Amino acid sequence: MTTTHGAPRVLLRRLREIMALSESGEVRLARIVVDIAGIMVAEVCSIYLRRRDESMELVATEGLNREAIHKTHLARGEGLIGLVVERAEAVNLPEAQEHPSYSYRPETGEEVYHSFLGVPILRQGRAVGVLTVQNRTPRHYSEEEVEALQITAMVLAELVASGELGLAKGAVSRKTRMLKGAVLSEGIALGHVVLHVPRVAVDTLIADNPEHEEQRLADAIEKLRNTIDDMLSRGDVARAGEHRDVLEAYRMFAHDRGWIRRMNEAVATGLTAEAAVAKVQNDTRARIVRQTAPFLRERFNDLNDLSNRLLRMLTGRTTAADEDLPEDTVLVAHTMGPAELLDYDRERLRGLILEEGAGSSHVAIVARALELPAIGQANSILNFLETGDPVVVDADSGEVHIRPTPDQVSTFQEKVRFKARRQAQYAKLKDQPAVTRDGVEIELLMNAGLLVDLPHLEESGASGIGLFRTEFQFMIASTFPRLDEQQKIYAQVLDEVDGKPVVFRSLDIGGDKVLPYLRSSHEENPALGWRAIRMALDRPALLRTQMRALMRAAKGREVRIMLPMVSEVSEISAAHELVDKEIRHMEQHGYTLPERFQLGVMIEVPALLWQLDQLLPLVDFVSVGSNDLLQFLYAADRTNVHVAQRFDPLSSPVLAMLGEIVAKADEHNVPLTLCGEMAGQPLEAMALVALGFRSISMAPASLGPVKAMIRSMDAGAVRCKLKEVVSEERGEVRRQLEDFAIQNEVLI
Ligand code: PEP
Ligand code: MG
Repeated sequence: MTTTHGAPRVLLRRLREIMALSESGEVRLARIVVDIAGIMVAEVCSIYLRRRDESMELVATEGLNREAIHKTHLARGEGLIGLVVERAEAVNLPEAQEHPSYSYRPETGEEVYHSFLGVPILRQGRAVGVLTVQNRTPRHYSEEEVEALQITAMVLAELVASGELGLAKGAVSRKTRMLKGAVLSEGIALGHVVLHVPRVAVDTLIADNPEHEEQRLADAIEKLRNTIDDMLSRGDVARAGEHRDVLEAYRMFAHDRGWIRRMNEAVATGLTAEAAVAKVQNDTRARIVRQTAPFLRERFNDLNDLSNRLLRMLTGRTTAADEDLPEDTVLVAHTMGPAELLDYDRERLRGLILEEGAGSSHVAIVARALELPAIGQANSILNFLETGDPVVVDADSGEVHIRPTPDQVSTFQEKVRFKARRQAQYAKLKDQPAVTRDGVEIELLMNAGLLVDLPHLEESGASGIGLFRTEFQFMIASTFPRLDEQQKIYAQVLDEVDGKPVVFRSLDIGGDKVLPYLRSSHEENPALGWRAIRMALDRPALLRTQMRALMRAAKGREVRIMLPMVSEVSEISAAHELVDKEIRHMEQHGYTLPERFQLGVMIEVPALLWQLDQLLPLVDFVSVGSNDLLQFLYAADRTNVHVAQRFDPLSSPVLAMLGEIVAKADEHNVPLTLCGEMAGQPLEAMALVALGFRSISMAPASLGPVKAMIRSMDAGAVRCKLKEVVSEERGEVRRQLEDFAIQNEVLI
């Protein structure tokens, strides 16, 4: 293979001619392999495409036995083809048969070939096919040859995606199907599929005038930066701080020098501006697919989103977001950036399904804020549905029903109606007091973390925010929020709650809550690691900046700060010292001090239970973080699906422990709340009230059901029942409490 210099250009020209032919897909593929083999001086050129069962089917070949076309299927992961798919990158081998992955297929007659070069045909980061060349002589293919084949694979990817090849064999089956995923944002949605295909078809790959392409690329980048600036100054975004943070990240990426240099280099090889953007996007995607670090993937999603915007500018194409959406759109995508989701008209969106997407991803945070039912990690779902398919997103159980049966549709419609009726009933309770039948008043508070959560305070009738998880803002930002940025957000929160109390929890980061911009070392047990207050005391500037921002934001109003994951009394003294320093600093610099400053502690580490007598006199309030407290009490990881549900919070040890905390808080006269998930479950909340809790904090959606339960219960009667149940030690606390509630018409 000596005549391949300039191969990319020659190949691209030839491909353009073949694409212009009005022949069937099969014929065009056959021509393509002949031409590639000729231009690249290879004895063999073959194309394999992915089938529904994930196998790779030989669909065209020059050099191998043609009889094998459509007959040779390589199972997932099989052979060198499987290796290319798995790695999603080129495999370049002088002696293919010596490679452990080599799989011999007699029907192809390939045993006489030694060297092998295979490149993936990538679509949305996944290999949908493989393009190979082989030679009789053992040789290592040059970088330029690899590049030439990769560019050809890009064109093939477009052809496959456009459906022009007419290879209908892999089309989606029309059967009803259920797929399981992970809940990203709760709720149920019925609707019709709209595929969010950000990929923009690039028809013109080869540049006639490279200088002109350079200029086009530069102009498009400039335009892209301007649109982001425009978005940032738009009223709705400017108000919603977290959306703003996301866009700030975009602005940063849009100035990324490495990205721009790589695109310019691609233009220099003779590609058009759009082909250069697509090539760099594909290369980055292939590299990132093998990365498991969530923050790297999240960065890539942002970059990918930007590339798609750039492609649309260069080609003048639009996305589904710009087209007429059905009234009941369920968006389906492999992955999606948060700003892409925000591009859609929320009025028309019913649900979201992603093949990727972790609960902590940016898009999931935005979906929750928009109250959009969303399911992630729905593996390979794009293989099973098409635009217009009816679909049910059951983001309560994490199931997607594709093309549901009429029975399934009516069952889910009934569930949705039932939820709506209940919601309407709860809305009526909004201004009613949360008082039990025997006159015990309970303070119901709301958990929040983003500015878009705040309207729920008014809607739900909560009397304040019992837990503001400040780390959420930090998790969606691209860089560590500066003092003035933090101050602005906290001031917005305090303005919006209009005098109602807010408990700001200091940063609970570390462990699995990774901040992309904060370097952290690998930890074997992140939940037990360097996190929350531990990190804050080792890096005091973090906590001091946050306190300073809060106190300045308060402008004389009251400030409540709560410390997470405290394990020793000494940590509280250390935090007090930092607070004192901060107050002195404010005084020295002439700032107005908060009208009142309260410092509280979360009880979520069991060791604190034996330090309550020393701890309680030092704090203004405490709040039980039952999510963490229970995971440490039962030694059961709250994020591990195999054990998270294994132990019941309504069990004797938990109730005994909580009872003791109530008794100690009463003895020391320190206000007590519980802000873990338990508080939002009506039956659990009933037990908490019976134990003596007079304040609980929960997700906004739980406030209605819990208030309805409180207004129907008799605290004294439940307390007696609870004592009896716990002392019997029959281990059936939940069932007995449930029976009691039903008999006594408590709305659980
Ligand atoms: C808890 O641990 O119960 C809690 C409220 O905090 P988080 O869920 O944020 O850890
Ligand atoms: Mg916690």
